[in-house]
Amino acid sequence: SAARLQAIDAVIAYEAPTPTFAPAEAPGEIFGRNVFTKAVMQKRLPKGVFKSVVATIEKQAPLDPAIADAVASAMKDWALEMGATHYAHVFYPLTHGTAEKHDSFFEPDDDGGSIAEFAGKTLVQGEPDASSFPNGGLRSTFEARGYTGWDVTSPAYVLENRNGTTLCIPTVFVSMTGEALDHKTPLLRSQQALATQAARVLALFGHGDAGTIVSYAGPEQEYFLIDRNFFLSRPDLLNAGRTLFGAKPPKGQEFDDHYFGAIPDRVLDFMLHAERELFKVGIPAKTRHNEVAPGQFEIAPMFERSNLAADHQQLLMVTMKRVAREHGMELLFHEKPFEGVNGSGKHVNFSFGSSTVGNLLLPGDTPHENAQFLVFCAAVIRAVHRYGGLLRASVASASNDHRLGANEAPPAIISVFLGEQLADVFDQIAKGGATSSKEKGTMTIGVDTLPVLPTDPGDRNRTSPFAFTGNRFEFRAPGSMQSIAAPVYTINTIVTEALDFIATALEERVAGGEDFNHAVQKVLEQIITDHGAAVFNGDGYSPQWQVEAEARGLKNLRTTLDALPELISAEAIELFSRYGVFTEREMHSRYEVAVEQYELSIAVEAKLTVEIAGTSVLPAAIRYQTQLAQNVAALKAAGVEADTSLLEAVSAPVKALREALAVLKAATFDDEAHGALHARDVLLPAMHEVRVAADELETLVADDLWPLATYQEMLYIR
Ligand code: ADP
Ligand code: MG
Repeated sequence: SAARLQAIDAVIAYEAPTPTFAPAEAPGEIFGRNVFTKAVMQKRLPKGVFKSVVATIEKQAPLDPAIADAVASAMKDWALEMGATHYAHVFYPLTHGTAEKHDSFFEPDDDGGSIAEFAGKTLVQGEPDASSFPNGGLRSTFEARGYTGWDVTSPAYVLENRNGTTLCIPTVFVSMTGEALDHKTPLLRSQQALATQAARVLALFGHGDAGTIVSYAGPEQEYFLIDRNFFLSRPDLLNAGRTLFGAKPPKGQEFDDHYFGAIPDRVLDFMLHAERELFKVGIPAKTRHNEVAPGQFEIAPMFERSNLAADHQQLLMVTMKRVAREHGMELLFHEKPFEGVNGSGKHVNFSFGSSTVGNLLLPGDTPHENAQFLVFCAAVIRAVHRYGGLLRASVASASNDHRLGANEAPPAIISVFLGEQLADVFDQIAKGGATSSKEKGTMTIGVDTLPVLPTDPGDRNRTSPFAFTGNRFEFRAPGSMQSIAAPVYTINTIVTEALDFIATALEERVAGGEDFNHAVQKVLEQIITDHGAAVFNGDGYSPQWQVEAEARGLKNLRTTLDALPELISAEAIELFSRYGVFTEREMHSRYEVAVEQYELSIAVEAKLTVEIAGTSVLPAAIRYQTQLAQNVAALKAAGVEADTSLLEAVSAPVKALREALAVLKAATFDDEAHGALHARDVLLPAMHEVRVAADELETLVADDLWPLATYQEMLYIR
């Protein structure tokens, strides 16, 4: 069709923008240039104020309200010098997006001029209207206000755009009763809870002053890039973020030739540009490479404190999308933009550590430290076993359902991969004590002489949802589009519970006069006996695992609607409220919001499917069918034998499409039937039927009549 061919012409005519920066500019010169860093604060703040702010940022000391005015004033001066005209409280509502409300610094003065104002109270608190954000019943209708509150632990920065600059202040977003309406609040609460319980365990190991304890996150972000002309020509991509139609291209990813391949020039241009923008706002973009599917790529920043990593991840997504457009491309964060090729995930690498002891998931090289490592590692095993359902719920969405368990991403069963050596050590512990390690030369006896472990076990298992990778765990189930906050606060909280359990058990045993090393062995033994079922080192993609996992009693929560009720189970509510991460009301609100988002996104897709099938696909197919019929009639009239096989071949899927479309239409616009279950059990299968017929037609209808950009065009032309 004309639109489709125009899109291709436009892609061919594309000219790369002139380079945005001189190669001579060293990354070190621009890194953090737009950030209100500690160095900037040190220069601009009175000494006492600076010390107080740093204590809050680094040692989690309570924020002193008296410093707000001084910080606001310094921040304003700095931002104005950077060219800012506005400031924005940036927050992370339950949509997984980023929200910002901009206000000008300038207010009229008495003489008809203007003066730049930014008081401490404006820095500390904002009042965006909360009524347009999902709240799951937390906000009563008469109280539309929501409050944003300054998060001093995530630095302010200025964002440049072509025509201006804005000071951005990361904030939490809460209701007037202090209930969380965002992703950041529970993340901060969970960091605090984790610190408390980890400190108890560390104290038992002789680290009375464990300093500041935080968790770290390093997200690996996968995404697709397609030319923007194709994107704009496809209403499904534009409105739903994924293609609802499209036959599999003759060449997909079966050659395995894209992963780690040479990055195409146009894409590399974009990456360099995007990374520069990320550097400016202090995001440590580190790794980039081609991913498995054609048109798919990955960016992985260096890990940071979880709260900062989560904020940076959100900013990264916004920035990458914006820069891609400047390069004439659309960046797709959807988990499954194209059926039949790999989808996108966001692996969340997770560890926790203390400012004095270091990474607590680092297998040490002295037996005593190994015992400590094994205790923290065992905590993770217990956590995943007890609360695997919550981990699954933390990544549940309509879009991620297309990816999980689809032989490209971990299954919905949450298990832990330890690697052969570590699994063996835990096996030995279960049998009464680790006396040897599989590696030569590291034989040791007894618990206080637990084996020396190499820091990099070397073996990798790509099929496990939760894998130990040498000094961290990698949670591979999160979706590419989602905020990392929910996975991280969930891990933080379930590990907190396990550490609490361990600390209590050890404290009791030691108080009862037991030898510490013996107590450690006993507690580890109990954990691995009770929770070892979550450890699985085999192939997570295999059908046998589904059977074995069930026998082990592990949950297999296939769809979002199977997983979400985990959030409101009595166990979950008890857990999150015990550690002050969520109240029961907040848990219910998360649940409500997630169910609603699920239902809404499928409802939108159903409507789009009806629209595209009815107004693009079917008309094209009928036109072709008519041409064929006219051809048959003309041949017959001319007295030539007419071959009707093609006409029949096209007519079958046309009929199927009409019928499937009628079913989907009725289900989509049925006022009686709605809700999330209807979306999953009626709309999704009905959409599938429409798609099957339409995709078959794509392989039959004359190319010049086909209205939608094809998979091979979108994935290969740029
Ligand atoms: P992979 O081999 O899994 O593809 P990548 O290099 O793409 O690894 O990404 C690894 C991610 O893990 C990076 O974001 C990195 O900063 C992060 N990471 C490394 N060490 C830790 C750690 N101790 N805690 C949390 N994240 C970490
Ligand atoms: Mg990677």
